[in-house]
Amino acid sequence: MLLARPSIEPNECLVSYLIRISEKNGFKHIGHLLRHAGLAWKNNRVPVHQILTGEFDLTVYLLQLGLTSCSSKIEPIFHSFQHVIDTPYLLVKYPKVCPDCIEEFGFCRFEWSLLPYLACVRHGKLLIDMHSGTGKRLNWYRRYLNKFDDDTDVTNSLSNIVPSEAIKLSQYIEALLNGRNGVTCPEILQGLELRESLSIIHFIAHYRSRLLGGSFQPLSMANSELAQHYQYVWAMLENWPDAYFKFLNQYLENPMSNKGVGGLHKHFRDLYESLHRQNENKGIARVKVEFDHYIENYWPSVLESKRITRIQLTIRERNVVSKKEAAKILNCHPDRVDKLVQQQKLTPRVFEGKKHYSREQVEGLAIQISSNWTMDEACEALQLTRYQLKQLLDAGILHTLQRPDTFNRDWVIDKLQCQELIACLCQKARKRTSPLGALSLASMQRRGYSIVRLVLAMQAEHIEFGYSHDVDHPLSCKQFTDFAFK
Ligand SMILES: [Zn+2]
Repeated sequence: MLLARPSIEPNECLVSYLIRISEKNGFKHIGHLLRHAGLAWKNNRVPVHQILTGEFDLTVYLLQLGLTSCSSKIEPIFHSFQHVIDTPYLLVKYPKVCPDCIEEFGFCRFEWSLLPYLACVRHGKLLIDMHSGTGKRLNWYRRYLNKFDDDTDVTNSLSNIVPSEAIKLSQYIEALLNGRNGVTCPEILQGLELRESLSIIHFIAHYRSRLLGGSFQPLSMANSELAQHYQYVWAMLENWPDAYFKFLNQYLENPMSNKGVGGLHKHFRDLYESLHRQNENKGIARVKVEFDHYIENYWPSVLESKRITRIQLTIRERNVVSKKEAAKILNCHPDRVDKLVQQQKLTPRVFEGKKHYSREQVEGLAIQISSNWTMDEACEALQLTRYQLKQLLDAGILHTLQRPDTFNRDWVIDKLQCQELIACLCQKARKRTSPLGALSLASMQRRGYSIVRLVLAMQAEHIEFGYSHDVDHPLSCKQFTDFAFK
């Protein structure tokens, strides 16, 4: 029987509770306490991890010690982490504590045993899991709740600056554990369960470590090191998806291998496959949505729209261009690019705080402009005066792709439609010889037939006309002659 039998606190970590009982009753560590209670594990070891997860039932041992049994609060959370698509990293390997809390409340909170719980939200300090002088880890077999093995006190180091992201992450986790009342978090995490959020966090941390040439091994990391990783990820989530795009963009500078594009392929393919595999996880699915956006926007045509199996990046050329590059492709002044945006002919994509343009769209526009007519080119081809051309355009008989307005001075005349109109009139031209007394174009105009009225009458076949082919000007309106009223 024990001398002191403290009862467990509502938010107390079960293993730390054992340390507390052990300390109060003068045991060397929890292994000795549980051996006293009848647990016969080799070398006085204790199934710490299984106690934390709730897999190991302590009830019988606690009863043996004269303590009322208690349930682990972490158990239901752990059970939601059983699915293979979730992150395997939830619980710490080594304990971490807030010495101020132990001093003030006398026990360790169970959320401290969660890997992403980095800082005490009450005291605004990073949790301690390592001796700042010796580098030795705090462990579950320590004699005193608030002391390292060498009997030095666990204290907060003054130099330990807490990143605000670490506090926010801990607040977020605490809110989730307490039934998600008033969870403030980045938008991308809203409505997700802890396991789903943590999957996102670990997914990004893993790929970032790979980008930097290392690997992400959260279980063996000290809390302060882990905080740096989580801090980065949290900041990315707060600036989602721009920061994520920026992150993906770093692959361009750091291909996975010295094979260049080959390494780049591997990066994206790997990321993609990983995202695809874990698509059932709601958190990962949200990352995938933005990954797909990124690929569509910056590497279009590498994904087959319906059946996406593998990413094949075949071009090194960037698929987004800056304003300057766009102006160069369009052979115009950069200001003109802004005007094309106002005309909704170009869609800017904001990326890294700057506007970018799709190369495909810019090139498409350049082709459209160069393959159609300016006013002068149309006059020359159709053999019309500027005045006549303008009349046909105003009447809607000839089509424009662009009219001068506040955004631009130039006309872009639809060449194809002009060609079709001339071809159509050619078909309507009479096949037999012209009747006597047929009139010329000029005579028709003298009789009150403006070019508009004339073309409308020709189209409607209200008048007859002949056609004489002009080899040099195959689209010339002057090819139509010998007008006659029906
Ligand atoms: Zn604290």
